[in-house]
Amino acid sequence: MNSTPSQFPSTLNRTHDPAATSWVASAQAAGTDFPIQHLPFAVFRHRDSQEGFRGGIAIGDQVLDLWDLTRSDLLDGLALQAAEAGAKSSLNALMALGPKAWSALRHAVFDLLHSHASAVVQQKMLLCLEPQAEVVYSLPARIGDYTDFYTSIYHATNVGKLFRPDNPLMPNYTWVPIGYHGRASSVQVSGHSFKRPRGQVLPPGATEPVFSACKRLDWELELGAFIGPCNALGEPVALDQAEDRVFGLCLLNDWSARDIQAWEYQPLGPFLAKNFATTISPWIVTMEALAPFRTPLERPDGKTDDLAYLRSEANTEQGAIDIRLNIGLATEAMREAGQLPHVVCTTSYRHAYWTLAQMVAHHTVNGCNLQSGDLLGTGTLSGPTLDQAGALLELTQGGKVPVSLPNGETRTFLADGDEVVMRGWCERPGSARRIGFGECRATILPALI
Ligand code: CA
Repeated sequence: MNSTPSQFPSTLNRTHDPAATSWVASAQAAGTDFPIQHLPFAVFRHRDSQEGFRGGIAIGDQVLDLWDLTRSDLLDGLALQAAEAGAKSSLNALMALGPKAWSALRHAVFDLLHSHASAVVQQKMLLCLEPQAEVVYSLPARIGDYTDFYTSIYHATNVGKLFRPDNPLMPNYTWVPIGYHGRASSVQVSGHSFKRPRGQVLPPGATEPVFSACKRLDWELELGAFIGPCNALGEPVALDQAEDRVFGLCLLNDWSARDIQAWEYQPLGPFLAKNFATTISPWIVTMEALAPFRTPLERPDGKTDDLAYLRSEANTEQGAIDIRLNIGLATEAMREAGQLPHVVCTTSYRHAYWTLAQMVAHHTVNGCNLQSGDLLGTGTLSGPTLDQAGALLELTQGGKVPVSLPNGETRTFLADGDEVVMRGWCERPGSARRIGFGECRATILPALI
């Protein structure tokens, strides 16, 4: 088991100072996702080039190129080692280094981008910046395994009511952080399109299935967690060291074919209803950047008697994170008319029943080895009220109550041409600068004929 001191719960340091400013002017722009207190990671290259993808850090409307930064003389020691690991075509090597190295790089980059940096430093740093408007992103890591959890009790109850009206919440839910092993190969970075899936569905009233294009295509609003240092096979990660194994969080859309799901899900759970596409945002928000936004774990049932491996004072007091989330929908007609995505749901990660640390502790308690770059999904993050529901299945009460859009169109489930945009941000006015997750966007194409 990890013997280094845990950073959980993260403490605040000078990189969180809400008064700090950058000489990159756009980092101070109203509403920017990327102030100097943030410094998230992505993998990118110039949009018109065939050059190699490499890691970068967001600042304002720019990307700091870690490859260029390692060629400057601006870093040394552990920060340089971390930047070299992050300058590759995936962030797996940086993820493997652990919290001390991540924090060393964060502090060094914070100082280099700070308004107090010397003119010489600023000149050298300017050579390492590229406008975000001119880059494209790839997946930030080689994802070996993808596990999806089910950590919102509101989502579990809402969906349970639709599938099992008499028994909505299974009795194991409040004891076990439920999850299943998903499919890593179909995880894509924001901005892609994918074909509506086809498969076996059981039409209403029928006794035998038909082969059909999915008619009940849905989104699921989730966060993804990228695993940092691996744990050895057979060596569980303790709850209070669990967040040392998490490099950071991104937005995640776990696309779901509800009609395929309804026919196939018993007895082994989701299979083809879930593995045709998963979309994630390009930017990974580090756990250190999220430190000002920790909150107590609050459960609607007040349950505090989790089994010992899932229970700790730190987890109860600061295990949750207040990450605001929303989902926007733009139909083809809306986009042609120049209309922005219409927000249909706003919620927060703080409502999750199981925390990130509990997800990691539970996943490894049997000795399962997580590896650097593995992706854990939180499950659909529905909040307590219907307008906080993170899936169309819940918002439309099983497809019975359509969602209305500003141009008069309605949706029960997604139509071809629809674009779904998820956003996330943290804010605590007066005590922290607002930080954003960027966006997680994808568009539905027609099914194969
Ligand atoms: Ca899911």
